[in-house]
Amino acid sequence: MKIKTLSFNAFQVNTYILFDDTNECVIIDPACYEPQEEEELFRFIEEKELLPVALLLTHGHVDHILGCKAVATKYALKPLMHHDALPFIEKSQEQGMMFGFSVEKPDISDEFLTEGDTIKFGHQTLQTILAPGHADGSLCFYNEPQKVLVSGDVLFQGSIGRTDLPTGDYNTLISAITDKLMVLPDDVKVFPGHGPSTTIGFEKENNPFL
Ligand SMILES: [Zn+2]
Ligand SMILES: [Zn+2]
Repeated sequence: MKIKTLSFNAFQVNTYILFDDTNECVIIDPACYEPQEEEELFRFIEEKELLPVALLLTHGHVDHILGCKAVATKYALKPLMHHDALPFIEKSQEQGMMFGFSVEKPDISDEFLTEGDTIKFGHQTLQTILAPGHADGSLCFYNEPQKVLVSGDVLFQGSIGRTDLPTGDYNTLISAITDKLMVLPDDVKVFPGHGPSTTIGFEKENNPFL
């Protein structure tokens, strides 16, 4: 499996495109905001001749979904998320205004992801891990054979998600990370919602919050 990272908008959100030699791909957290960011995402998919088969959201924070409507429309996909992330999407226009973003609310699928679901594309399988504490409905996406975890805003290199926003809770977050992420093999690569990638082993040794 290959991973393309694109960093978008004023909050430097990582948008990930996961693909393999079948050319099927999934797009995680479509955060593109400026027209040239949107174009960069579309161009990559076009140049690699990828076929997007799913649009996944790690959680509903507005900075992660700024390009959701455009990407969903372009590829005729509905965003897949945990049901508990829905209230954030519903408030995305108001939330966006607080940060000076004009947000188009995406169409919502009536299908939701829950803990332990699997998403398939090409020869790959992603498993969902529910990890609340930063925001309700936060999902991580785990490709076990490839040892790749897309962690959203749950776990960062040397840090963890903030817990001072609505539905945030420090103890819930620490429990989720400890019980569900730190039990993964040390050599699992972690691709967070912001900043550089890391590994479970590195965070076990070095993350001051754990
Ligand atoms: Zn967030
Ligand atoms: Zn974020």
